[in-house]
Amino acid sequence: MGKWRDVTGKQMKKKFTRLVELQNTGAKDNGYKSQAEVWLTIDFDEINGVEKMCDKLWTELKPLYSELLTYVRNKLVDFYRDDITFPDDGSIPAHLLGNMWAQDFESIFDIVRPYDIQNENYDDVLKDQGYTPVKMFMKAQEFYMSLGLPRMTRKFRRKSIIVKPAGRKLVCHASAWDFFDDDDFRIKMCTNVTMDYFETIHHEMGHVQYFMAYENQPVVYRRGANGGFHEAIGDTIANAVRTPQHLCELIGVACPSPGVDTHEADMNYLMKKALLKVAFLPFGLLIDKYRWAVFRGTIKPEHYNSEWWKMRMEYQMISPPSPRGEEYFDPGAKYHVAASVPYVRYFFSFVVQFQFYEAMCKAAGHVHKPLHECDFFNSVEAGTILHDMMKLGGSKPWPEALEQMTGTRDISADSIIRYFQPLMDWMKIENKKTTDKQTKLKSKK
Ligand SMILES: [Zn+2]
Repeated sequence: MGKWRDVTGKQMKKKFTRLVELQNTGAKDNGYKSQAEVWLTIDFDEINGVEKMCDKLWTELKPLYSELLTYVRNKLVDFYRDDITFPDDGSIPAHLLGNMWAQDFESIFDIVRPYDIQNENYDDVLKDQGYTPVKMFMKAQEFYMSLGLPRMTRKFRRKSIIVKPAGRKLVCHASAWDFFDDDDFRIKMCTNVTMDYFETIHHEMGHVQYFMAYENQPVVYRRGANGGFHEAIGDTIANAVRTPQHLCELIGVACPSPGVDTHEADMNYLMKKALLKVAFLPFGLLIDKYRWAVFRGTIKPEHYNSEWWKMRMEYQMISPPSPRGEEYFDPGAKYHVAASVPYVRYFFSFVVQFQFYEAMCKAAGHVHKPLHECDFFNSVEAGTILHDMMKLGGSKPWPEALEQMTGTRDISADSIIRYFQPLMDWMKIENKKTTDKQTKLKSKK
């Protein structure tokens, strides 16, 4: 990871500093205070309310994240007990979290897994069943169509890039494109046959479904209700696809079997999900919290790296594995920072997708059952409320689009908190057990 940072962020610090100056000049010429206000306007139509909304959501989400972080830290401390001394400040060293940017913790699931059951390797199963990138795309399309949403277009099938072409340079970062030209919508990604990529396909296809749904709007409204909405569509669908119920039907994994305690299987499932969706929340927020401050000049170039790590600590409780001076520029290791793409849309997406999901589950008749068990496959009712909202594009303020679909005008943390409540209750008990054990050990000494 250290090497990655040497060849990425470190190399671009000067260029980034210059880019910030240029972007601010452009912003001021257009009547904005700084580039931060430009970004907030692009993604959310308004400026003042968005940052307050971020802070309010984060206050509501923090207890869930903190419980997860404590749980994960305890597990890691135990796992590395002979090799690594953890910092006293309660943080986790970033290199132990199994992700280049420590932006989610999904790949350390095996270390933190609540119960030692159902050790299936989904990637192997996909390969064994003859899945190819094309078949994965077909399956994703099938799910969307089961909701009454349209098939991908002819041009999509002809012109998308779904595997890395030989002998050509390509930015493999997955993306979806609206060419604003009849039915020309495309995805560009370098698909491998894994469950993660399967999820990414649903994500990108969600963008394309949105493009198609608002195709008949005037050009200025051919966009998402806000940036977060666009990112949330495909994830909402993937949340249903990834349920054990659906995966069992689809590829015969995660099926309930006689010997397996359903509560234990549930906790494993929710933990895996939390390592992806909950762990991401503070990261999704701080990337732009950081850049807004950079654009506004409250973070100066001579403190770019130290302020970055301060924020990593404040929001994520993550620390660098070794001291990081100002000769480095660690935020630059992240694609969206290097490519200057606004990021807070992902934070909102991770919250609002659970609102979309809950609304679609209700529409599909999934009530009186835990939210995380809901798979709305084949529910045209669920598809219709999603499609009707998507058709609006950017023609209505986003609170109206949200209200039409979910009945509320606010982006709210309630749904994601409700979704993870069973895990939250379980982690509280586990974390308390660990604290009690530690206190006992201390008093013995
Ligand atoms: Zn996306």
